[in-house]
Amino acid sequence: MKLQEYEFWFVVGSQSLYGPGVLETVDRRAAEMAETMNASGVLPCRLVYNLTAKTPEEITAVMRQANFDDRCAGVVTWMHTFSPSKMWIDGLRDLQKPFCHLATQYNRQIPDREIDMDFMNLNQAAHGDREHGFIGARLRLPRKVIAGYWQDASTQDRLGSWMRTAVGAAVSRGLKVLRFGDNMRYVAVTEGDKVEAQIKLGWQVNTWPVGLMKDYVDAVSDADVDALMKEYAEKYDMATDDLASVRYQAKEELAMRRLLTEQGCSAFTNTFEDLYGLEQLPGLASQRLMEDGYGYGAEGDWKTSALTAVVKAMGEGKGGGTAFMEDYTYDLTQGEECSLGAHMLEVCPTIAAGKPRIEVHPLGIGGKAAPARLVFEGHEGPAIVLSLIDMGGRMRLLCQDIECIKPIYEMPNLPVARVMWRGKPDLLTGVEAWITAGGAHHTVLSYDVTAEQMEDWARIMGMEFVHIDAETTIPALERQLALSDLMWKLR
Ligand code: MN
Repeated sequence: MKLQEYEFWFVVGSQSLYGPGVLETVDRRAAEMAETMNASGVLPCRLVYNLTAKTPEEITAVMRQANFDDRCAGVVTWMHTFSPSKMWIDGLRDLQKPFCHLATQYNRQIPDREIDMDFMNLNQAAHGDREHGFIGARLRLPRKVIAGYWQDASTQDRLGSWMRTAVGAAVSRGLKVLRFGDNMRYVAVTEGDKVEAQIKLGWQVNTWPVGLMKDYVDAVSDADVDALMKEYAEKYDMATDDLASVRYQAKEELAMRRLLTEQGCSAFTNTFEDLYGLEQLPGLASQRLMEDGYGYGAEGDWKTSALTAVVKAMGEGKGGGTAFMEDYTYDLTQGEECSLGAHMLEVCPTIAAGKPRIEVHPLGIGGKAAPARLVFEGHEGPAIVLSLIDMGGRMRLLCQDIECIKPIYEMPNLPVARVMWRGKPDLLTGVEAWITAGGAHHTVLSYDVTAEQMEDWARIMGMEFVHIDAETTIPALERQLALSDLMWKLR
């Protein structure tokens, strides 16, 4: 499902003692609020007014329906009046979808001359939202609380960002990863507990023989390759005469696309150590699939592959780009330190500053023919890098705020896509923090998704979240990690 096909249910709390007049007003206003917020164009998904809840039975029924409705990616609640929250216990305990408590009110201002006790009884969100907040805290629910006036763009923007996060949870719970081959030999950080990942995150991670991909490559027709070569020539600069190499990548793209479709997978991995029967490591082919929204992880890194697919789904249509990335090398010019990110081949062109070039160069490792790949510079702007690591017994999601800059060197002999950035709070403290927290060399780099969204996603999925930002200090981070270890042992 695409982002805009998901919907969110708007459930407004009340109770019967107010009488039919008040309840009709609440019902009418709740419908108006959902329609107005939808019409604003800020929300990425439709907010569907579902119910003014008056009884425990109604609340339990709507939460159970939400669980079983595939289009429903989450529930947004708001208390127009006072809704006694013991009525919500059964329903909220049953709710398996992401939950947002929108603390707002229908009127923006207090009507100075008109306000009386009837107005107070009808408009008591400040009162009702506190009762509702208590039961969320008492039940220890992973929830999002957003306070703001419903007509303000800033409030709608926060609700819209949370909707994207909740869609990320839905995508995660249905995600299948297709692996060609296993992990790169002896590498630790890209390993992990696939059973735990499926229990917590929903990821089904399974392997297919690379020989099957070879059969699929051999079965690709020349006509299909011709059509794809035409698309390449239109979309990118063909900066090579070695068209045979590019054609081979087109075959690999078509073969992998067919396999991914047949298996219902939206993420994949491969490794240069297991290319039996293939002539080239997929470079351009992997980049093209990432550009189309597929997750990818090199060297068998299924965690980063799946995370790339989830983050791409959350950021759909934002336009900044999300890519598989790897920390490679630093420039340690004092006061202007920055990091150069790249990969052997496979960086997603959604983050390109200009038109990518197709180039063919030999690879130093893997022992296969020179692969075609897209070469480009990443664009400037604020972004995040994410790393998912298995701490043994739990997954940790590490997130760092970064500022991508125009690469300060031309690097004409570097035959791969490249991105340069300065990490928060500064490059060197950021490196110390990243290494202290155990973050990997492989990351997901995204201009489209924020740290707040990833923290909300981690909370929904039941994962540890560690954020390195402008305020990070090493002593505070070490205390957080120590407390976190203790907390996760107690769970
Ligand atoms: Mn790598």
